[in-house]
Parts: sequence; C-alpha cells; structure tokens
Amino acid sequence: AKADGRGTFRRYAAGMDVHMQARQELKVALRNALARNELDLFFQPLVDLSSSRVSSCEALVRWRHPDKGMVSPADFIPVAEETGLIIPIGEWVLRTACEQASGWEGDIGVAVNLSPLQFKDGDLVKIVSDALEASGLAPSRLQLEITESVMLDENEANLHILQELRHLGVKIAMDDFGTGYSSLGYLRSFPFDKIKVDRGFISDLPEGKESLAIVRAVAGIGRSLGITTTVEGVETQEQLDAVNAEGFDEAQGYLFSRPVPAADIPDILRRMGS
Ligand code: C2E
Ligand code: CA
Ligand code: CA
Ligand code: CA
Repeated sequence: AKADGRGTFRRYAAGMDVHMQARQELKVALRNALARNELDLFFQPLVDLSSSRVSSCEALVRWRHPDKGMVSPADFIPVAEETGLIIPIGEWVLRTACEQASGWEGDIGVAVNLSPLQFKDGDLVKIVSDALEASGLAPSRLQLEITESVMLDENEANLHILQELRHLGVKIAMDDFGTGYSSLGYLRSFPFDKIKVDRGFISDLPEGKESLAIVRAVAGIGRSLGITTTVEGVETQEQLDAVNAEGFDEAQGYLFSRPVPAADIPDILRRMGS
C-alpha cells in the first residue's frame, strides 16, 4: 500500500512538473511576444438590433506563438496577469484598438477588455487618455469592458478610476453579466453604460426556461435604468429571435461574424456598417 501511495504521488508530482514547466515556458515566450510582434488584434462586430447595422467592434487579442500557433487568450491572459505582463499588453491593446477604430468609417465604436490588474497599476486613466489622443478617436467611440472582479467588495479605488474614465467621455460596459455573485448590486454602485449578458445564458435559448427568464429580467432592468443591453455568443437564428423578442439593443456572436483580422473590418462595415 505504501509503495502504491509513493507511486501515485510520484506520477502526480511528475504531472505537476510538466504542467509547471509548460507554464514557465509560456511565461518566457509571452515576455518576448510584444517585442517580436507576435500579438495581433482581431475584431468582432456587435450588431444594433433595431437597424441590423454594426454599432461597434470588440477587440480580442491573439497570440501567434512561433511553435504552438494561435494561443487562445483564455490560456495566456491568466499568464499575463500572473506575470504583470498584462500591463504592457493591455496598453498595447488599447493603443492599437483606438488606432484601428480611428480609421473606420462612420461612428463605429470599439470595445476593449480591461483586466482588473490594469486598475491596480495606477496609470490606467493616463494610458486611456494617451491612446485616445494619439489616435484622435472620439472618446465616446471607446467602450471599456470590465468584469465584476473590478467591482469586488465595492472597491472604492476602482470606483474612483471608473468615474475618472467616465469623465474622459468613454463608455463603461459590464461584461459577462450574470456570472458573478452581485451583478445586480454593482449596477447600483456605478452607472454602467452597457451590460453584456454572458453567453452562458444564450447558449440554451430558446428552450432553456431559466435562461430565458434571466435574460428577460436583464432586458427589463436595462430598460428601466437606461442602460444599453447586449448579448454575446449568439450562434443561431433561434437565439437571435429570442433575444430580439426580449427587446435587447445589441447582439454579438458567430451568427453575424467570428472575430476577424483588423484588415477585414472595413469590408464588413461597408456591407453592414452604420
Ligand atoms: P470575452 O470578453 O467574454 O470575449 C468573448 C469571447 O467569446 C471571445 O473569445 C469570442 O471569440 C467568443 N465568442 C464570440 N462570439 C461567440 C459565439 O457565438 N460562440 C462562442 N462559443 N464564442 C463566441 P476569445 O477571443 O477567445 O477571448 C476569450 C476571453 O479572453 C475574452 O472573453 C476576454 O475575457 C479575454 N480577452 C480577449 N482579449 C483580451 C484583451 O485584450 N484584454 C483582456 N484583459 N482580456 C482579453
Ligand atoms: Ca468582452
Ligand atoms: Ca463577455
Ligand atoms: Ca464571456
């Protein structure tokens, strides 16, 4: 039994080593990714449901790893946060997104995801205003998407930063709405411009009774608070019909377009821009 236990432990330990080694390699490679131009921004359109026109595009970072190919942000953003690299990467994303959007026709907005760690850095407001100034993008065209972790414990410092960002004239969206514990409470602490219902509530529409009830309630809250309501992860016409019936303002998902390279956006805007 003892030998078994040791054997089990050894196998487990070896597994951990492999995992940690892979993560360590990822850290080293990520450190060089920015300088080596391996990061790229893709964009995914958000469609205004009353006009069926693109209202904005969300910037989604991509990493072309020299050996591994495309690495999903779901895999490397956590590593970037752990190492602090999210600060330079986040700044690059902001600058590049504003730069790209300033070249789009019409008043098409651009949405940028912010990590909670970017709020700890101290320079976020300056980084955002510099990105706006350098690109010449009108502040009202920039939307910053934050998740509930930014609001955790009614974090006073972060609320203050959000207010300063708002004073720059940018829009603040709550992303992945409904996945945390206190989504509703946070709507009371800060006047968000937009809520984006997490795609987990969309995937089982139209059959999912619970999801439908929640999605309906969020649409109602948005209406009464004057907050733009968006859904993400719309993949089928049936899902779109369901969110349309609930009166959502905007939708995003593979049904309209996958995230595409920046070079493809002008074409999409010509076909379905504002
Ligand atoms: P998110 O902000 O919730 O972004 C939406 C994710 O859903 C994207 O995954 C997008 O490609 C995917 N998606 C869009 N439409 C559909 C659909 O119809 N069906 C399905 N199944 N998926 C859809 P992606 O690009 O892999 O990004 C994953 C997450 O990584 C993002 O989730 C965001 O949290 C994070 N992320 C991406 N770019 C950045 C960035 O520049 N900065 C930070 N801090 N986080 C980022
Ligand atoms: Ca997002
Ligand atoms: Ca989201
Ligand atoms: Ca999500």
